[in-house]
Amino acid sequence: MGSVQIVTTILAAAITAVAVWLAVRAVMKMVAVIRLGQPDPSRFGDQVSRTKTMLAETAGHTRMLRWSVVGAAHWFVMVGFIVLSLLVLEAYFEVVSPTGGLPLIGGWGLYGLVTEWIGILGIVGIVVLIAIRLTNRPNRAGRRSRFTGSTMWQGYFVEAVVLAVLIMGFLIRGFKVATDHFEYPTWAAPLSHAVGSALPNWESGVSVAALIKIAISMTWLIVISLNVTMGVAWHRFLAFPNIYFKRKPGAAGSGLGPLRPMMSDGKPLDFEEADPEKDQFGVAHVEQFTWKGLLDFSTCTECGRCQSQCPAWNTGKPLSPKLLVLSLRDHAYAKAPYLLAGGGKDLTGEEKATAAQLAHVDVLALAEAEKPLIGDAEAGGVIDPDVLWSCTTCGACVEQCPVDIEHVDHIVDMRRYQVLIESSFPSEAGVMLRNLENKGNPWGAPQNTREDWTKGLDFEVPRVGEVEDFEYLFWVGCAGAFEDRAKKTTRAVATLLNEAGVSFAILGEGETCSGDPARRIGNEFVFQMLAQQNVETLNEAFEGREKAKRKIVATCPHCFNTLGNEYGQLGGEFEVVHHTQLLAHLVATGKLTPVQPVDGGVTYHDPCYLGRHNRVFAPPREVLGSAINGGTGGADGGLIEMPRNSERSFCCGAGGARMWMEERIGKRINVDRVEEAMSTGAKTVAVGCPFCSTMLNDGVNGKGAGEQVEVVDVASVLLRSVKPEPARGAEEGEPVAR
Ligand code: SF4
Ligand code: SF4
Repeated sequence: MGSVQIVTTILAAAITAVAVWLAVRAVMKMVAVIRLGQPDPSRFGDQVSRTKTMLAETAGHTRMLRWSVVGAAHWFVMVGFIVLSLLVLEAYFEVVSPTGGLPLIGGWGLYGLVTEWIGILGIVGIVVLIAIRLTNRPNRAGRRSRFTGSTMWQGYFVEAVVLAVLIMGFLIRGFKVATDHFEYPTWAAPLSHAVGSALPNWESGVSVAALIKIAISMTWLIVISLNVTMGVAWHRFLAFPNIYFKRKPGAAGSGLGPLRPMMSDGKPLDFEEADPEKDQFGVAHVEQFTWKGLLDFSTCTECGRCQSQCPAWNTGKPLSPKLLVLSLRDHAYAKAPYLLAGGGKDLTGEEKATAAQLAHVDVLALAEAEKPLIGDAEAGGVIDPDVLWSCTTCGACVEQCPVDIEHVDHIVDMRRYQVLIESSFPSEAGVMLRNLENKGNPWGAPQNTREDWTKGLDFEVPRVGEVEDFEYLFWVGCAGAFEDRAKKTTRAVATLLNEAGVSFAILGEGETCSGDPARRIGNEFVFQMLAQQNVETLNEAFEGREKAKRKIVATCPHCFNTLGNEYGQLGGEFEVVHHTQLLAHLVATGKLTPVQPVDGGVTYHDPCYLGRHNRVFAPPREVLGSAINGGTGGADGGLIEMPRNSERSFCCGAGGARMWMEERIGKRINVDRVEEAMSTGAKTVAVGCPFCSTMLNDGVNGKGAGEQVEVVDVASVLLRSVKPEPARGAEEGEPVAR
């Protein structure tokens, strides 16, 4: 060992020792913070699915590759990081000896080839990512930049380190080539040979370059260890467990759909026994999120994909799912010293720690602990109420998040506490909640008018109990029974089912609201009350049938989601389909035959609770495709897609009980969506949800375009094609004045 190698070895050992000590301390701190969260036993089952999903989403980058260029570049950088960690390890042998290399695999041609090419593609990948970050700088693009609100120096720092480490790898190899200590042929390592041909024959160059590479890598480790909230770096490690523990590991996409039940101490809360002095009602303090919630906040990479898709953020509202997650993360870590000392409030609001326990806690942590979780700027709140109530629960953020952060569950958990304990929510939604409690529907319509939509049809609509048998229970929904436009859809569906010879029956006055708006606003009490009543009614209607024969068809995606995905939490197991799925099947099997083409072009708006939450993308398109060309079209022949469609569809603004709240801030979401729909030039905007229909109709009328553009349900489009005027007669009911 020469004198240069003695110095490089000592320096490499010293900086590594400091970095590893700091990293161990940082990991222990993060684990301690995450363990502050509440238990969640539901995250440990189905280990095979969890492992498969984690491998597919990390190694396969299945979520990231939707953003193709960024996804591909990030894949090479990620693989580069993992594989080239071996080269950092190799550098420890090279600081000791210029001819050193990894034992066993060092010198193996395949290892040289793979690392060479991953290094080259890693450089290309990181340069692409740096270019994307630079061209999307918030100071250039403002709110349109997905990096607005991200800590930019951290992103630049991480990317610069990756680039520098990759370059140093080629410099080390170059010096080995120049000093004739390189084992790999030119065909296996062309860039290393090219670099080597330009370098001097300096043997210690290998050890010095290796020391620089180690120093850069360890500086990175030191910086991230001193910044445990630096998600852009820590996600390299945290993404694996965060994806492994996702809410529905085997489900396609992001696993949206059902909301998590309200939990207390790891168990679902039953309102017949719940006690607010003993049980946790939603989330009032950051430590009341589960450990998975705290892991979510720690894992955020600040990439801003969620923000770029959020309808609230895109229409000028204060909610950004990214900034919400970052606020919760920063608050959790700032408050952690107080909590770890034994601090915290019990369920009656009393301090748990003694004065002695808190005596040595940092004043900043004590001050952080005093902040209300929800509160405006004056109250020093972590999350502003306008942020909390802007969410439509559309799921665009969850769908886009590459590390499976579950924003919607966290938002609803915070709403639950505000509604159930603080009675604090937008006052206009109070009418809807009172109507649900007193009348069983959000409009407050009399229950005995639930069947009014059947009047004037030229066939009998059977009620459950009046018929011997039925294949489908037609769940009409409150909108479908009481709202004028939705009633047209209900009539159209009933007519089509009758036409196709499907045996169905309705509950009529036995139906009440599914409870979706109560649950999304956070009123789990009203939700459980309505849901239990409906589950009882439905169980009675299907008595003696196995699950596969407990079939329900629903026209409202919110009912479809709640009945199919959430009633199981209360003992109601049913096979629920959306009407577009059933209609697509009836067309495909020849039970319904479209004959009349649709004029003027058709576009389709994916309802969030049908598309993203339940991944029903194809059936409505198949129905429309068959109708557009009067039965001669292909699967979706002739449909004009909006730029934001399917998984990336833009919300209409009504979900998350926003239908029942005023939209006072920013541009109206429905107007934004209507402008997009009208930009296609289509004369018909087809929808598959009564709330979307209301919102988009309002948007079209607000723009004074009611004469040029019609917003109408997929079922009505099909009915016009199957039974053209005048054969259709009264089935759709009287036209609604626009
Ligand atoms: S669910 Fe939709 S509205 Fe709510 S934060 Fe996510 S993207 Fe925004
Ligand atoms: S998409 Fe996920 S990782 Fe990216 S900023 Fe949003 S929450 Fe964070």
